[in-house]
Amino acid sequence: MAQEKENLYEIAVKQFDNAVRYLPDIKAGIVEMLRLPKRELTVNFPVHMDDGSVRMFTGYRVHHSTVRGPTKGGIRYHPDVTLDEVRALAMWMTWKCAVVGLPFGGAKGGVVCKPEEMSMNELENLTRRYATEIAVLMSPEGDIPAPDVNTNPQVMAWIMDTYSMHKGYSVPAVVTGKPISIGGSLGRRDATGRGVAICTREALKYLKMDPKACRAAVQGFGNVGGSAALNLSRLGMKVVLVSDIKGCIFNPAGLDIPYLQSITDRFGVVDRSRLRGAEELPGSSWIEQKVDILVPAALEGQVTGETATRIKDTVKILAEGANGPTTPEADVILNDKGIFVIPDILCNAGGVTVSYFEWVQGLQFFFWSEEEINKRLEEIMVRSFNDVLGISQEKNVDMRVAAYILAISRVAEATMTRGIYP
Ligand code: NAD
Repeated sequence: MAQEKENLYEIAVKQFDNAVRYLPDIKAGIVEMLRLPKRELTVNFPVHMDDGSVRMFTGYRVHHSTVRGPTKGGIRYHPDVTLDEVRALAMWMTWKCAVVGLPFGGAKGGVVCKPEEMSMNELENLTRRYATEIAVLMSPEGDIPAPDVNTNPQVMAWIMDTYSMHKGYSVPAVVTGKPISIGGSLGRRDATGRGVAICTREALKYLKMDPKACRAAVQGFGNVGGSAALNLSRLGMKVVLVSDIKGCIFNPAGLDIPYLQSITDRFGVVDRSRLRGAEELPGSSWIEQKVDILVPAALEGQVTGETATRIKDTVKILAEGANGPTTPEADVILNDKGIFVIPDILCNAGGVTVSYFEWVQGLQFFFWSEEEINKRLEEIMVRSFNDVLGISQEKNVDMRVAAYILAISRVAEATMTRGIYP
């Protein structure tokens, strides 16, 4: 992870440009509009710390597109958050929602901070103040945040409560990924990883490979990586490696994923002192395993022109659990190696799909069973996978370009149908 990160927004625009050339009917002005975020908010705000001091923090909230509905997108707490990163993540949310056919545009938020060095009290103060600062953009009809890296159901609960206190009544539909006790949806926590596994299963079917004969390595063991590993192991495959910020955990006979989850903290870090029958490897080794399936599910920019060359010939599928894990340079190498890439805007869309279900339930105060949620998620993921695969075959393009073609054409159609105001 030592390499310098490429500018994520430039990568997002490059991916867009790679696909939009297959859509010559979209007017140049609309193309330009879709390249740019619709609105951006930067907030600098003070937070009371436990030692009595006051510290300033910087946060962002970016809306990329509102043409298909309210904006939807997570909030990230990380020291490396930048406006360009948030712009890219917001744009990817637009395409993701469009690929799976949800009535949302894309947004993202972030606060520059080191949450693992903050107490719960400091995190609550930071969250409530940030939520108040971005409340000008946030509402159940306008913009609905969700968890992302280093934020979780508790953070969503504080945001929901802060917003509700200002309104004077409870507004559960203002965020998704909330705890069940305050209107969260059954199945939400597991949804992104479940979606990754559904897409992987469909890709295996297409490639005529048996999941039970497959081995997988997963980078990241938080919300997405943990549940992706669990759901892949439920398909019968051996998950031989998972990793977190401290390094990799490896067992060639297959890891006991439920046990590893039971010794993992809220930041997705596994307690090394309680490992059983697994060895530790350096963090970078996840990408060079002789496995059939690689799942980057930690951070963006992990599969680069340099790291992609280290991927072994055994790898047949790269299932992108993280947002933006692969650079355009790496895409060329992956295509040359014949690796079937399930792009992030399709592969990790299970999370926003169940967030959509949670939002609908919150607006109606009527809740569905977990079985109902998982059935609807399965239908949407399988349909979307096949929609993208169909375009990829019809236009002879890779799955990423195909997913972008589908997403951009849906957003462009909505834009042109609504017309340009005034
Ligand atoms: P998380 O905070 O729950 O977990 C992140 C994991 O990555 C942890 O195991 C952490 O130790 C590991 N990690 C962090 N920095 C690392 C590093 N430098 N090297 C190796 N591992 C590192 O985050 P998450 O919610 O699982 O999100 C992971 C990725 O998935 C992000 O790209 C996020 O944008 C994307 N995503 C999340 C969701 C969601 O529902 N949470 C949905 C779609 C996409």
